Order: sequence, then C-alpha cells, then structure tokens
Amino acid sequence: MNIITYPEPVLRQKAKPLTEINKKVYEKVEEMMALMYRASGIGLAAPQVGWSVRLFIIDVTGGKYEDKVFINPTTVGEEGELNKEEGCLSLPGITGKVIRAQKIRGHAYNLKGQKIEIEVEDLAARAWQHEMDHLNGTLFIDKVSPATRLALSHQLKEFERSYRDKSVKVSV
Ligand code: ZN
Repeated sequence: MNIITYPEPVLRQKAKPLTEINKKVYEKVEEMMALMYRASGIGLAAPQVGWSVRLFIIDVTGGKYEDKVFINPTTVGEEGELNKEEGCLSLPGITGKVIRAQKIRGHAYNLKGQKIEIEVEDLAARAWQHEMDHLNGTLFIDKVSPATRLALSHQLKEFERSYRDKSVKVSV
C-alpha cells in the first residue's frame, strides 16, 4: 500500500459505502495509519491508497476526536466560514487557501461498527470536510480561488506529466 498522488483516476471516483468491517478492513486501516503518520499527515481517505470505499482516518492534535477511523460518514450540519491554507498527501508540496465551514456536525461508524456523532471545529472540522471530499472524488485544488488555481497550474501540470510518463506502456 502506498499513497496515491494526483492525477490518478481513483482519486476522482465516488467511493462506495463499506458494507462489512472484517479482518481485511482492520489490516488496511492499520496500514493507512502507518502511512499517514510516516507522511506527517493529519488525515487520509481510503481512495488515497487506491481503496475506493467510504472510510477515512483523522488524527489532529489535542484529542478532538475520540475515534480516528470514520466509516460511511455523513455531514449533517455546518456553521461559520474560515478561509485557510490546506494541503493534501496526494498533492505533495502544494498548498492553497480553501473556504470551509468552521464547525461541522456529522455521523459515522467507528471500527467497532458503532454509530458515532461528531461535533468539531476549526482544524478538526477542516480535516473532516477535506476527507469527506476525497470520498466524493473532490480535491482541495477544485475549491481554491481561480487566482490560486492559476498559480498552482504549473505544479499541477508537472504532476500530470510525470503520471503520463509513468503510465506509458511499452509493447514490442
Ligand atoms: Zn487530501
């Protein structure tokens, strides 16, 4: 398992609900945790490791969440607005300001299959919204201002070029 980077197509897919929590899920989540910590990230969504299911992990400092694994999450409420810099492990080296709700309320299931309720603010709320976007095939670069998008266009093209080079198949 490794972290998939832009513009791999799986990052643009709408992920499917997870229907069963089994040994395989535990193992994958453990691997995701290790990858996230190694990359010094605060969140990682399953599609970012090529696993197109509705699951993400978040670990922000300060113990904002009791759980770190969120399965089949839904956002039920949003409040306020904050325009802050963010980045993504699938877009290494790129950051941009994104307007997000300051506070969110949501539901999800934890790894034990229990339904959990979430009410978080600021960084924890931003991470939730960012990871939720991943489950719907949306990346933060879709949400930056047109000026930021333009400023990032060169770097994005570099990602696209190296993806193309990597995916060329040689047949003789
Ligand atoms: Zn991301």
